[in-house]
Amino acid sequence: MQALFSSLPFSKAQLTNLDSLGYKTMTAIQAQAIPATLQGKDLIAQAKTGSGKTAAFGLGLLEHINPRFFGAQALVLCPTRELADQVAKELRKLARSIANIKLLVLCGGQSFAYQKASLRHGAHIIVGTPGRIQDHLNRETLNLKGLKTLVLDEADRMLDMGFLEVIEAIIKETPKTRQTLLFSATYPNAIKKMCLGVLHDPVTVKVETEHLEGTIKQAFYQVKAFQRTDILLALFEHYQPKSTVVFCQTKIQCREVSQFLNQHKIETLALHGDLEQRDRDQVLACFSNQSCSVLVATDVAARGLDIKSLDVVINFELPRDPEIYVHRIGRTGRAGATGLALSLFTDGEKRRFDVLKEAHNEDYKVDELDSLTRDKPFKVRPTMSTIQINMGRKNKIRVGDILGALTGDGGLKGSEIGKINLFDLHSYIAIDRMATQKILSYFVTGKIKGRAVRARKL
Ligand code: ADP
Ligand code: MG
Repeated sequence: MQALFSSLPFSKAQLTNLDSLGYKTMTAIQAQAIPATLQGKDLIAQAKTGSGKTAAFGLGLLEHINPRFFGAQALVLCPTRELADQVAKELRKLARSIANIKLLVLCGGQSFAYQKASLRHGAHIIVGTPGRIQDHLNRETLNLKGLKTLVLDEADRMLDMGFLEVIEAIIKETPKTRQTLLFSATYPNAIKKMCLGVLHDPVTVKVETEHLEGTIKQAFYQVKAFQRTDILLALFEHYQPKSTVVFCQTKIQCREVSQFLNQHKIETLALHGDLEQRDRDQVLACFSNQSCSVLVATDVAARGLDIKSLDVVINFELPRDPEIYVHRIGRTGRAGATGLALSLFTDGEKRRFDVLKEAHNEDYKVDELDSLTRDKPFKVRPTMSTIQINMGRKNKIRVGDILGALTGDGGLKGSEIGKINLFDLHSYIAIDRMATQKILSYFVTGKIKGRAVRARKL
């Protein structure tokens, strides 16, 4: 059943490369999409996060690049810088088999002048966010006249973020002969409409949302509107989840729920679209390095992020769209682990529950509120805390330099140090809560690569 990469007309070098990456069989979306992309057809693909979309468009796109022509031949538009970085990282791995392929990431929040200089040297592949790409087009630092492949990744989210007009303006700068590949987790009317104008005779592929039964246990609770926050607390008390994402419908709700939980001694971080990039980076670093165990997020902000090992997903409100529901809860129960999806809905939202049952053809039961035991407060405390330091990649430091200083002069044990995330001008170090004072004392006078460091606990 499972299709091998070697069944497709890839170069020997690429097959060897895929093999060294550990890619043997194609994921479902890859098996459906790659033959069409290799043939140069336009494509509409619907698949969820983690399904291997990047290789689904990346492998075809790479085959069509002429390394001897240094203009932009492929453009991948992504909603956010993080997603652009994730795509670029994956594409670079796939491009290893082809000599001299240059890939450039063009996103906001980074030096325009620097990007302009890089563009002058030529790049075959551009990955970026719509706003910044448009800036480059307007200032004529980027030319898309030689474009062969245009990819719209996470298209639904780009539209949610209000990028429709910008995307249309970018497309006007590309040749009509281009191949267009559109990837989207959901397929609302706005996307359908955009596809009509932008794609030519597209092949449509859809990967059915994976069978959720078995790996994800689902429970539903019907509440009165005034009870909702209290029952949310009850869920934490009853299930005592080690890592949780609470999904909210709006930014405002997200902020309110986060504050409510904080007031009730459940430490949370909120992730929503109003955050500055730097704050987003910080929230995600703290959640993924285990110094925060509860993230309260909107769909838009959490989409596409590779969050690993989640115990529980809570829907503070059931979403209207069953696909969004599946998308949210698919973040738990990954890699064979059993996950838990808990959803609250009010009498007024009962219709959403019915729609969900119908869409999944399942007779989900509503659990009794009394079944939630509340004899203990929520006791899970993160094991780590996060220290921010004012040095990053641009200071030419590496993870090893930080680890070396802390375990050497700093006298910390390797086991006390968790994940280290480097950014351009700052970094986050996860540290065992018990060792927080020790690391802060070290940085009072201690150095990294001979330089004094400012450190603070977040
Ligand atoms: P998506 O964009 O759909 O969220 P990605 O393209 O980022 O997913 O891929 C998710 C992860 O799966 C990546 O770490 C990637 O390296 C890995 N991956 C993709 N395709 C394969 C494959 N055929 N075999 C093994 N791993 C794969
Ligand atoms: Mg992706």
